[in-house]
Amino acid sequence: MGFDLLLRDARLLDGSVVDIGVAEGRIAAIGPGLAAEADEVVDCGGRLVSPGFVETHIHLDKTCTIDRCACETQRFPHGAMERTSAIKPTFTVEDVTSRARRTLEKCISHGTTLMRTHAEVDPKVGLRGFEGVKALVDQYRWAIDIEICVMPQEGLLNNPGTDALMVAALKNGARVVGAAPSYDSDPAGQIRRVFELAREFDADIDMHVDSGSSAAHLDTRLVCELTEQYGWGGRVACGHLTKLSVMPLPELDEMAKRMADAGVALTVLPSTDLYLGGRDKDHRIERSVADANRLHRLGVTCSLSSNNILNAFTPLGDGQLIRQANLYANVTQHAMPADLRETWAFFTTQSARLMRRTDYGIAVGNPADLVLVDAPDPVAAIREVAPVLAGWKRGRRSFTRQPVVLHRP
Ligand SMILES: [Zn+2]
Repeated sequence: MGFDLLLRDARLLDGSVVDIGVAEGRIAAIGPGLAAEADEVVDCGGRLVSPGFVETHIHLDKTCTIDRCACETQRFPHGAMERTSAIKPTFTVEDVTSRARRTLEKCISHGTTLMRTHAEVDPKVGLRGFEGVKALVDQYRWAIDIEICVMPQEGLLNNPGTDALMVAALKNGARVVGAAPSYDSDPAGQIRRVFELAREFDADIDMHVDSGSSAAHLDTRLVCELTEQYGWGGRVACGHLTKLSVMPLPELDEMAKRMADAGVALTVLPSTDLYLGGRDKDHRIERSVADANRLHRLGVTCSLSSNNILNAFTPLGDGQLIRQANLYANVTQHAMPADLRETWAFFTTQSARLMRRTDYGIAVGNPADLVLVDAPDPVAAIREVAPVLAGWKRGRRSFTRQPVVLHRP
């Protein structure tokens, strides 16, 4: 049997060492010592081969703007939305595309092969952020599949013209409806309108909800209620939910079960949640990152993603999901092997589940979206922030990173 690509001595997540044969962009065979001809043979040397990474929540439209925004002058309020809003009239489609490209290429080079990016619309930026990101979808199909979530960052019901722009984007390729109800004069009204739009366009929902240090009120309760009412279970994700990090455990577990029952997923965004969390205090500051491991064990689909990179919301970042996982493990104090294996799923299988991809993973017949990690297993990879040495999208190599070489005397 002839393959286009053969990965020799690849270690899978279960620890087994196998060969992976790829033909016509799909995984054609998996097993030890495959005897076959192949156009390209890669010796993985017993290193981990994982399904390509999945970034479910990133903002490519406003990435790489930190040097253009006014500096942060106080802890609280941080004004990230306002400081970004002030420069949005200067965004052109070309400007958005060029900034988004810079971050997208970093994500690709760190192993991401599937992505859901937000693109915000409002009268200030019009559809330019959306169009600027959309231009990259076809250009980078050789390396990554990109899905666009259109969102009203500066309010929907209080911002005339925004609803029509949401509709325009949904008619022109946006597949997911986003939300940021805390920036709306009527948060519940925004959430209800987002569900109406989702039904009208048969779109999934991905919201920014419940950032804060008091869990007295949770918008997620309404989201769960509407998810059931609309029959949208499995199609709704809530990002941030930092309020979960300040809840007593019995209440937290009750909320987790509520989300699991309704089919509402959680996305943790450790870098942003840490950077913006607890700003109302100047000492004993909460960690502000929800415990995804705990929610996952109670049945919630959980994802871990980058969110903002190099902008007023998060002035730091590089699109490296393994590093984000390392940060998450430090913050949530989940660093034992079982925890880290579970965390690996938060940017692979669980994230693919959030995006409802049924052909994801290393199995015969699936697209060969694979990454070679310079570590023997996910535990070592997250603990040591292992580099990703190569990636393949539908069986074609999309990047290579040379392992470091020590030049001994
Ligand atoms: Zn976000």
